[in-house]
Amino acid sequence: MSTETPSFQQWEEARKVIPRGASSGHRLGFEQVFVKAKGAYMWDREGNQYLDFLNAWGPIVLGHSDSRVNDAVYKSVNTCDLTGVGPQLGEVELGEKITRLMPSAEKVAFCTSGTDATMHASHIARAVTGRMKVLKFHGSYHGWSDHVAVGGSRAGLTKESPLNTVNSAGLHPAVTGDVIVVEWNDAEGLRAAFNAHGAELAAAFAEGYVHSYGCVAAAPGFLELLRDLCTQHGTIFVLDEVKTGFRAALGGIQEVTGVTPDLTAFGKAVANGFSLAGLAGRDEFMDHLGAYAQNEVTIDGTYNANPYAMAAGNATLDIMESENTIGRLYELGERLREGYARAIVDTGVEAVVTGLGSEWAVYFRAEAPRNFRDTLDVNTDRYAAYQQSLMKQRVLETTAATGDRRLNASTTNDDIDAAIDAVRGAFAAAASI
Ligand code: PLP
Repeated sequence: MSTETPSFQQWEEARKVIPRGASSGHRLGFEQVFVKAKGAYMWDREGNQYLDFLNAWGPIVLGHSDSRVNDAVYKSVNTCDLTGVGPQLGEVELGEKITRLMPSAEKVAFCTSGTDATMHASHIARAVTGRMKVLKFHGSYHGWSDHVAVGGSRAGLTKESPLNTVNSAGLHPAVTGDVIVVEWNDAEGLRAAFNAHGAELAAAFAEGYVHSYGCVAAAPGFLELLRDLCTQHGTIFVLDEVKTGFRAALGGIQEVTGVTPDLTAFGKAVANGFSLAGLAGRDEFMDHLGAYAQNEVTIDGTYNANPYAMAAGNATLDIMESENTIGRLYELGERLREGYARAIVDTGVEAVVTGLGSEWAVYFRAEAPRNFRDTLDVNTDRYAAYQQSLMKQRVLETTAATGDRRLNASTTNDDIDAAIDAVRGAFAAAASI
């Protein structure tokens, strides 16, 4: 019997000192409080063991509490902590690695969250072009900072949201005058948006492979079209690889698709759970991060490139390269998706599983969605029954009916097969509604 304060009591105590009980909205909606994590598993305060398919929303790629990454961090802590002067311990080494691995990266600058990275990208794009507007795709999340500019929160995107209407020009009305919103995979809408606003667009933001509402690939030719339109109109193409970076491939989704952006925002999997993100891109754009001069922008951050994150990033990427972690993640992911698809057929539930590599999504609708609007009709009651059944069987998946989920490389084939059995029960529970 665990001696920990029970989870429900910990939640109550948390709500007294932390708004809603947790410092990130994504952490709400669960009854559990987890106190131990190792490999593919986490344990709650009651001592129950869960197979983890959340993986902290992306960062945990090798496995929880990977001792090789942790040892590298301990070593850095005991060698030289944050100095506040010049390149930090491990910074040049990690910069060299990322410029070697990521096609768009000629230079790299580090920060601490994906939100920082996309914010810096919009600052650079505005400095380079002297323009203010940005284009983004409906439902895609690029972090909270510069929220209005890079915009659109998932919370606001409901069926009733004005973003789900189309104006007379066939375009989604902007969140503000500075943001143009286009439906993902809508080539005509994208062309129309560039025709109408191209000369004013500083940047176009895209995920490359959408994870903001599950797992939705770009239609053939769509990213190429975006690349061409950005080039034609002098707009900076910002690829948000916060979720796909170091997961879809070591070089990110840009390596998989062969479409190279001007700037890339990355984060999450780069450091197996340590707080690290960054911005990469062509010299001519990254060099605008130079000064406080007119038409220049700067990057400042007390904890940017802190040596603990650098150590974690260097160790994570070294392990991923030497062990072909990406190959392993793809094998596991394919085994899992096949098993989920079989379970859907066997239980007769109306659902579909989509995904790439280590990531997947389950939609309670007949067909795979092509864009955000398609996901608005998923059956949320069935999803709730599915997710709660999985929780009872100690498999941790997202509470969001259009959420993405992912595995880490320490997951075994046996773990996957056990999860597929649990998922079969969860689909049966959903089918009974
Ligand atoms: N961009 C994408 C595609 C994301 O999924 C996220 C976070 O989930 C972010 C940006 C923001 O990253 P962070 O939470 O590290 O600020």
